[in-house]
Amino acid sequence: MQIKDYTNAASVREAYEKVLQAQEKLNASISFIDPEEQLQAVPEGKLQYMPIAIKDNFNVKGMVTTAASRILDNYVSQYDATVIEKLRAAGAVMVCKSNLDELAMGGTNLTSFAGAVHNPYDLERISGGSSGGSAVLVACGAVPAALGSDTGDSVRKPASFCGVVGVKPSYGRISRFGLIPYASSLDHVGYFTNNVADAAKMLEVLAGRDDRDMTSSDRPVENYSEAVGKDIKGKKILVFGNVIDALPDSETKALFNKYVKALEEKGAVVKTVHFDPTLMRAILPVYYIIANAEATANHSNLDGINFGHRVEADSADEIMTATRTRGFGPWIKKRFVIGSYALFEENQERIFRKAQKIRRLIVDEVLKELKEADALIAPASGAGAPLIEGQSTDELSDEYLIAENHMVIENFAGLPSMTVPMGLSEGLPVGLNISCNAFREADMFSIAAAVEEISGLKGNVKEDY
Ligand code: GLN
Repeated sequence: MQIKDYTNAASVREAYEKVLQAQEKLNASISFIDPEEQLQAVPEGKLQYMPIAIKDNFNVKGMVTTAASRILDNYVSQYDATVIEKLRAAGAVMVCKSNLDELAMGGTNLTSFAGAVHNPYDLERISGGSSGGSAVLVACGAVPAALGSDTGDSVRKPASFCGVVGVKPSYGRISRFGLIPYASSLDHVGYFTNNVADAAKMLEVLAGRDDRDMTSSDRPVENYSEAVGKDIKGKKILVFGNVIDALPDSETKALFNKYVKALEEKGAVVKTVHFDPTLMRAILPVYYIIANAEATANHSNLDGINFGHRVEADSADEIMTATRTRGFGPWIKKRFVIGSYALFEENQERIFRKAQKIRRLIVDEVLKELKEADALIAPASGAGAPLIEGQSTDELSDEYLIAENHMVIENFAGLPSMTVPMGLSEGLPVGLNISCNAFREADMFSIAAAVEEISGLKGNVKEDY
């Protein structure tokens, strides 16, 4: 597959047109950014003239930033997120703010106040979430790159469903200043591309210490592009046995096994590992407690007084109640109830602290094996994207708890993790997930490039939808 070159203003205008055209069928954008003003002065840089979509939970100065929530539907950002500054300085040109699950709290993109995002491989199916709009805009060939955020798999899962590359680097690798928070101990800036080389280049631009984000790392930013195409001979790769066991016999499983063989043929040393199944079944419940508790605290400022939409009433208390009642969707309210419950004084030790302890046990369990190896791999999803309407899942099955939610581990542990397309399973894209030790993004890109070479899906897009 040929990667499109973006080298001049005309290619940016073309991307903008494509983003506009895509809207009717895919609903991937919340607002559009006419690129003309930015095109007046495009600095030279690694991403010069690269059109880019921005998930609508990043602040872009002067633009409405909704996070797909009614409560922020009129909120105009007062400043640029650090990643926006970095993209501008590298010559990238923003063409839209993309659709997402409300406040990035979801995995379907069905909870957005702007409606569902449709998958270009089958318009009746979801994009995945929460960064669904960004994934779809890359998948449909409108833009070569898009920003997302990943708290529990929100970049890597939609990447799998949409057949694109999705990256979540180590915790602290990219500044989160200017990202509307969800759960601060789990939130990461991530992004999508249609090939691994661009993914490596993007990280060179986005990574680095930022004094405005105290969790950002001052480790030097590496030349990740050099890792792309590097020999993977001798790399120790672990196959995530619990995930494989939890999957039904399917095309996905067969496809994944082919990749394992092909990686071995390239000289990787592959071994299957099994982690404690009780801990693996606890990933999702623990995640929900921690993520929702942190979200409840982070979003207490969305009250109609400080930011965004306000429902007028007689007192400050009534304004807050009325604004929050009207401003949040039902799914968010449910999550705030869970989060508040876990934070009640009488429940903190029993629920919140316990969840934090189990998080630590899960992380230790995985790191014990990973520290002796270079990477852990698994299918990023058991099957292709579910239907928008009427698909039910058994949420207590291992297939759901483990196989569909294992990527939360890398948020718990802050590990770099990315999804690369493997091809189609029952006619729908599925991805292969690669996770590595903290700050070993170079390993991750080398293995991802090997997977891409095996798949032949470099530059994969679905323009006829
Ligand atoms: N699906 C997960 C959730 O709903 C992940 C969301 C995310 O990573 N932003 O919380």
